[in-house]
Amino acid sequence: MEDAARARELRDTIARLDHAYYVLDRPLVPDAEYDRLFRELQALEERDPALRTADSPTQRVGGGVRADLRPAPHAVPMLSLNNAMDDTDTAAFDTRVRGAVSGETDVAYCCELKFDGLAVGLRYRDGVLELGATRGDGFVGEDVTANLRTIRSIPLRLFGTVPPLLEVRGEVLMFKREFERLNAAQRARGEKEFANPRNAAAGSLRQLDARVTAQRGLHFFAYGVAETAGDASPSASQSEMLDWLQTLGFPVCEHRARVRGLDGLRDCYARVEAMRDALPYEIDGVVFKVDAFSAQQRIGSLARAPRWAVARKFPPREAVTRLRDIVVQVGRTGALTPVARLDPVEVGGVTVTNATLHNEDEIRRKEIRIGDLVAVRRAGDVIPEVVAVVGDHPPDAREFVMPRTCPVCGSAVVRGEEEAVARCSGGLVCPAQRKQALLHFAGRRALDIDGLGERLVEQLVDTGLVQRPSDLFRLGVQDLTGLERMGGKSAANLLAQIERARDTTLERFLYALGIRNVGEATARDLARHFRSIAQTAEVGGRALMRDIENAGEEDLMRVPEVGPIVARSIRQFFAEPHNREELKNLLNAMGEIAAPETTMTAALPLLGKTFVLTGTLPHWTRDEAAERIAAAGGKVSGSVSRKTAYVVAGDDAGSKLARARELGVTVLDEAGLRNLLG
Ligand code: NAD
Repeated sequence: MEDAARARELRDTIARLDHAYYVLDRPLVPDAEYDRLFRELQALEERDPALRTADSPTQRVGGGVRADLRPAPHAVPMLSLNNAMDDTDTAAFDTRVRGAVSGETDVAYCCELKFDGLAVGLRYRDGVLELGATRGDGFVGEDVTANLRTIRSIPLRLFGTVPPLLEVRGEVLMFKREFERLNAAQRARGEKEFANPRNAAAGSLRQLDARVTAQRGLHFFAYGVAETAGDASPSASQSEMLDWLQTLGFPVCEHRARVRGLDGLRDCYARVEAMRDALPYEIDGVVFKVDAFSAQQRIGSLARAPRWAVARKFPPREAVTRLRDIVVQVGRTGALTPVARLDPVEVGGVTVTNATLHNEDEIRRKEIRIGDLVAVRRAGDVIPEVVAVVGDHPPDAREFVMPRTCPVCGSAVVRGEEEAVARCSGGLVCPAQRKQALLHFAGRRALDIDGLGERLVEQLVDTGLVQRPSDLFRLGVQDLTGLERMGGKSAANLLAQIERARDTTLERFLYALGIRNVGEATARDLARHFRSIAQTAEVGGRALMRDIENAGEEDLMRVPEVGPIVARSIRQFFAEPHNREELKNLLNAMGEIAAPETTMTAALPLLGKTFVLTGTLPHWTRDEAAERIAAAGGKVSGSVSRKTAYVVAGDDAGSKLARARELGVTVLDEAGLRNLLG
């Protein structure tokens, strides 16, 4: 296609995507796909500037306004940001900046998180919030004042001496936890889910009824002042201005830094990337801003974005590819997981060919068919998943049907009424379940048998050498040397590892059994509880294991954190004769199974210590944190005093944190608390 035609096509497509994204808050494609089209258009226009029409999306701030919201013109336009996709782009930005402020070698930059929410402008007259608006197309936004007033972190009246007119800019965002809660509620009501926290925040703010916004628990971070009003600010740089905004009562994100030169930018990016997943809200990069206002003015802005700032984006976590087939995998407890076979696609630096579809209901809900184009997401260590269908189903797309029999052993597939998961009923008859059970048994967090990986387990089960975990302890050198890639030395190493695994702790042993719903934490709770109620002081892990094996559902439910579902799973497991038999074999084969230390010492590491909780923790609610502290013997109090041992502070921590600092009380974050709890 010739360039002019392609440019026209790209402009049309981008306009359609912009409408869905900005006006309807319902993106049609992942951001990475949008960004790809956008950059293609930019490249065409760069090659031939005649293609750069006035209405090109590269020349303006993307966004529209809802016709039923009141328009709010911006006295100072609200711009977007240019992107830097990699280190080369960052270097090019730094070079441009140095060129513009000639002479400086190590330019000072203010680095901020790039929050994945939506920009708003807040106008204060004599320190009182008067108007709040979305960005819209940069010149005219939507008046959402009533909705913004419901956001608790937005001050309605400012502290201290304020200029008569002040317009503050910042981001409205939805925390991950709230996003999940909202989507679960949408699902329960049979309504469409939001694609990401950014769209959810936008959809929640741009409402006709402020009561809806009020229920959505939105947050706000301030990061700027509209220029004319900026004259009123007593600051000479971006970082001073952020400090000043904080003294006026605005929430300003604590993760910010003033750095120098390109090295400073790169270091900062690496630091933020490392902490990204631990933050309670989504960010999609780091914003680098030239710090000194005088330098910003010299560098200036273009139509769409300032030239003194750039958003260094993280590599995308989503990509689009074709779903070729859906196969079913059998897990340790017989759960059948549909897995998508994909055309290879690169996501976040790794080539992905398989992605989980979770279960049958999820496939129906997302209306996924074999043959569809799909968006695939891969974040951190998490298994890649298919997020959504992109575009329409092709005419030859096929629906997925869960097989009625197990694809590995042919046993019937069953699905409980209340359950989302279909299971193979074959139990240990099913080689797939046997293999998974062995892998689990030998796993790092169970008996930790180094060297017993997937390939070896596959062979051990397929040759019939090992049927169940206890068989491992009967293996000899001659059994192993017949296997592929197994010389005398590796065989001896493996046997040494198996030998070593005979001595373990009760909690590891319990976890290794692979009882449904008994993860590491539950295994530990069970071991500790049964230890604490044991009649004799000198009780060993074997005896405790028998107590657990014979415990009734009622007894099990006395274990803190064990509810009816877990109790029933444990009972059902030990009710099966083959599981009892296997337990007997294992107990015969094992060496020492260590019981947990007595409750008075190890189990109550926080005995006599008083804690104060403040702010929002990334993973635990305050109640959860308090329960855990109490379970470890600690006490939780509402106010900080000299007797307080620790203050656990999350995001938006307020006066209690300040008080702790004043008194010199140790302050922890959630990770620190987890460490203390062991
Ligand atoms: P942007 O999100 O890339 O960057 C500009 C915005 O960053 C600002 O408006 C502000 O809201 C925000 N921001 C966050 N932290 C900030 C900070 N510390 N300082 C200053 N600003 C900060 O640009 P955009 O114009 O809002 O949106 C374009 C992007 O939106 C595209 O790159 C694409 O990823 C996405 N998009 C996707 C689709 C789709 O169909 N999926 C459609 C349109 C746009």
